[in-house]
Amino acid sequence: HNTLPRPATRRVMCVANQKGGVGKTTTTVNIAVALALHGNRVMVIDLDPQGNASTGLNVDHRAGVPSTYDVLVDGIPLADATVAVEGVPNLYCVPATIDLAGAEIELVSVVARENRLRRAIDAFPADIDYIFIDCPPSLGLLTVNALVAAREVLIPIQCEYYALEGLGQLLRNVELVKAHLNNDVQITTILLTMYDGRTKLADQVAAEVRGHFGETVLEAVIPRSVRVSEAPGFGQSVITYDPGSRGSTSYLQAAREIAERGARGGHQ
Ligand code: ADP
Ligand code: MG
Repeated sequence: HNTLPRPATRRVMCVANQKGGVGKTTTTVNIAVALALHGNRVMVIDLDPQGNASTGLNVDHRAGVPSTYDVLVDGIPLADATVAVEGVPNLYCVPATIDLAGAEIELVSVVARENRLRRAIDAFPADIDYIFIDCPPSLGLLTVNALVAAREVLIPIQCEYYALEGLGQLLRNVELVKAHLNNDVQITTILLTMYDGRTKLADQVAAEVRGHFGETVLEAVIPRSVRVSEAPGFGQSVITYDPGSRGSTSYLQAAREIAERGARGGHQ
């Protein structure tokens, strides 16, 4: 494998979209694996109680294992919940257990509840180039924690009807967090996912998203592909499961663009 450039300072990216099923987890897993296989040190923080990113990386997330719940609610160090991902050197994961479903409510009465993840990340000593935070499909306290902890927001958008619906709410939340909790946060990266080249609709959605968000949108587009959806069933990314597939090459291209754009993305 040739290498992708390593950032000068750690990049923390929140992968968010309050819509479910748009490719947040798939994008998190595959971009993380791509960067790790090309010379970067990468961590995935699973912030969705469903634990799909943990499953996709084949990381144990049964109730009781140290997880993002313990980090957020009990304040354990991030390092104590971090595990190495098998089969991918330089890739680490903090799994999510089902306990996390209660955290949204348990955190309400906790001091500095929006800053829990940020503090844990800031205190994490290891030299990691990228941290990807896989958000749940909501804009609650878990996603707010991710937005406060991150400098960058990566929004996967599915090339489907209604793709832009509800996005306004996410954009407003990012602005609110920026205004009140984390001045550094910025939407740097938009990735078009589940693109079906046979439909006119997919092209229309892609054009609409590019018209609206300009340079923030990566040139790489992720095709709809059975291989992409099969891979998690084997605890793998599509990149390790079927390296030559279009899903794999498109995620590699997306990772390359992210690495080459640097921490501020596009031309913003
Ligand atoms: P989210 O995390 O936003 O809820 P997921 O990444 O879990 O979305 O994706 C939702 C479903 O779509 C999953 O079953 C996943 O395997 C599938 N999927 C994601 N990306 C693709 C793709 N490019 N082609 C086909 N299926 C995909
Ligand atoms: Mg998900």
